[in-house]
Amino acid sequence: MKTYNGKSVYGGVAIGKLHVFAKEQQRIVRRTISDTAKERERFEAARAEAQEQLAALYDKALKEVGEANAAIFEIHQMMLEDEDYLDSVNNIITDQSVNAEFAVGITADNFAEMFASMDDAYMKERAADVKDISERIVRILLNADAAGVNTNEPVIILADDLAPSETVQLDKDKVLSFVTVHGSTNSHTAILARTMNIPALIGVDIELSPELEGKLAVVDGTNGVVYVDPDEETLRKMEQRRDEELRKRRLLQELKGKDNVTKDGRSVMVYANIGNLKDIPYVLENDAGGIGLFRSEFIYLENSDYPTEEQQFAIYKEVAQKMSGKRVIIRTLDIGADKQADYFKLDKEENPAMGLRAIRICLTRPEIFKTQLRALYRASKYGKIAIMYPMITSLAELKRIKAISKEVKAELTAEGIPYNDVEEGIMIETPAAVMISDLLAKEVDFFSIGTNDLSQYTMAIDRQNPKLDEFFDPHHEAVLRMIGMVAKNAHDNGIWTGICGELGADMELTERFLRMGVDELSVSPSFVLPLRNTIRSLDLSK
Ligand code: PEP
Ligand code: MG
Repeated sequence: MKTYNGKSVYGGVAIGKLHVFAKEQQRIVRRTISDTAKERERFEAARAEAQEQLAALYDKALKEVGEANAAIFEIHQMMLEDEDYLDSVNNIITDQSVNAEFAVGITADNFAEMFASMDDAYMKERAADVKDISERIVRILLNADAAGVNTNEPVIILADDLAPSETVQLDKDKVLSFVTVHGSTNSHTAILARTMNIPALIGVDIELSPELEGKLAVVDGTNGVVYVDPDEETLRKMEQRRDEELRKRRLLQELKGKDNVTKDGRSVMVYANIGNLKDIPYVLENDAGGIGLFRSEFIYLENSDYPTEEQQFAIYKEVAQKMSGKRVIIRTLDIGADKQADYFKLDKEENPAMGLRAIRICLTRPEIFKTQLRALYRASKYGKIAIMYPMITSLAELKRIKAISKEVKAELTAEGIPYNDVEEGIMIETPAAVMISDLLAKEVDFFSIGTNDLSQYTMAIDRQNPKLDEFFDPHHEAVLRMIGMVAKNAHDNGIWTGICGELGADMELTERFLRMGVDELSVSPSFVLPLRNTIRSLDLSK
């Protein structure tokens, strides 16, 4: 037995034969061409065919893995329209009197190098894409077939790295797991593994030799280990774990479409937390009742400048539409502290967690806040959007928020832009907000308790500092009592309260939360069904 370690991008156990996914290295030969105009036409024809293939791949991916994962093929189509890319290929053919394959190969190397040297993580990942589209064109020019899996049984794919088009062309029924030597946590392979619900490892220190082909292996996605030729005991243990996980997963699937209701009839809203549009398929797949926290600051973090109203509107509209009338709670910008975007040009602070962050930035720079509110109100026409304000500590802040939102609505009305009435709530994540939650409840439509920050501020323990772990008690009685107090004050004033911090998914506490009167729990999409299971097992009458 040989053991290899890597980084887990999705858990679970897979047992099966290894398939070494060898990239067909296209052998590009440099040839001198006399009729360069004809060679450019040859390139153009190959490009047109590549576009057709990509359009077909997009449709296939859309059906199989959803819009977010299919989007990569739209990006590829756009890259094949890129003028710089096309100019480069055509100029090399013309200036050097060379064949199209050679010109594409050189262009691919140059562009990939350029992307790889960029600081932006998103742009860096485009290096793999430019190589991918170029290989496609070269394959067409050479009349070669795409690499694939030609096995009869499902296999563990072992690869150096997988290009997006390679992963989607794979017959999914034949893939038990992905194991790659390179790749990143946010790579398409990782995203696909999560979507397909199969274990995947990246950064595995394994040499891709042909002898590995067909060998029995076990992928422990949870612990990031691959066993090749496992011994009897390892195999038996891992088979047990795989069967146990499958059993649990199957049971959970049966819960789809069922209510989140306790044995004695208490209904609970189980929603999901998301960071961007790409997470929506998981929300739908796991049958969440709505989105309880859309951390909108990720839109700002993924941008190199302030996202415009139109950009934001398109995103909020899409999430509202995709959730088809289910509640979508969008939290306004929570930048600052651990979430920094350079273009905000925030001063360095001694205590950033207690500094200029979240609502404090919005209130001191209302032009940024107003742009976001305009986009949110406009999007409210397309679904059930609710707005949530972070890091509230006082009634005075609420008063200022209301004044700004009133101004925004008046402007929209004056411009003839329609919007709906939306629910507006606040996050309870400071002890100050807890202590005045009776007063705050009179001013808003709902509360959502941010236990990540509430725990940090209550215990005075920096949530970012792992050295303080031994002092951090996630079940600290102070925090739990605060949750109880907030729920009571919410109900006394006729509003509902939820939890959207990590503690909401802590199933040891579900019963206590429900007994306190918590109405909603918003958790990572993969926790929705396990949480439903827990809720359905509880009997609060006892
Ligand atoms: C929280 O503080 O619990 C919360 C949900 O917000 P964030 O983790 O984004 O600070
Ligand atoms: Mg928070």
